[in-house]
Amino acid sequence: MKRLTHVGIAVKNLKDSVDLFSRLLQIDEVEHEVVQSQRVNLAFFRLGEASIELTASTDPESPIAKFIGKRGEGVHHLSFEVDDIEAELARLRSDGFQLIDEKPRAGAGGHLIAFLHPKSTNGVLVEICQRIHPPDRKHT
Ligand code: ZN
Repeated sequence: MKRLTHVGIAVKNLKDSVDLFSRLLQIDEVEHEVVQSQRVNLAFFRLGEASIELTASTDPESPIAKFIGKRGEGVHHLSFEVDDIEAELARLRSDGFQLIDEKPRAGAGGHLIAFLHPKSTNGVLVEICQRIHPPDRKHT
């Protein structure tokens, strides 16, 4: 795995959390993206090589809404970049890691993504991602 790309944080109200993290990080530039397939609105703060990804649900039945319902707001996942997501999934599978996504799917930032099950990673939800095209984001 090449680098930590972002830490995903589940939030209830994206606008409130963008205001909060702007003050916390003292960063005004925010990138916004909607991922329809995941029913989420995202806001990214760039911090050097990595980002903070605020994730809010657009639907009470979405996985993020369920996560917040069960565990409250907070750190949701760590995302690591890889060169070849298919090869990495095969490696992780053969090394005994439990996969949530057997196949990569489209995620934010022009990435293919896949999640590992936190049961096999000390309770940490791990995302791996491979960039396939530039992100489609609005800057504010
Ligand atoms: Zn992510």
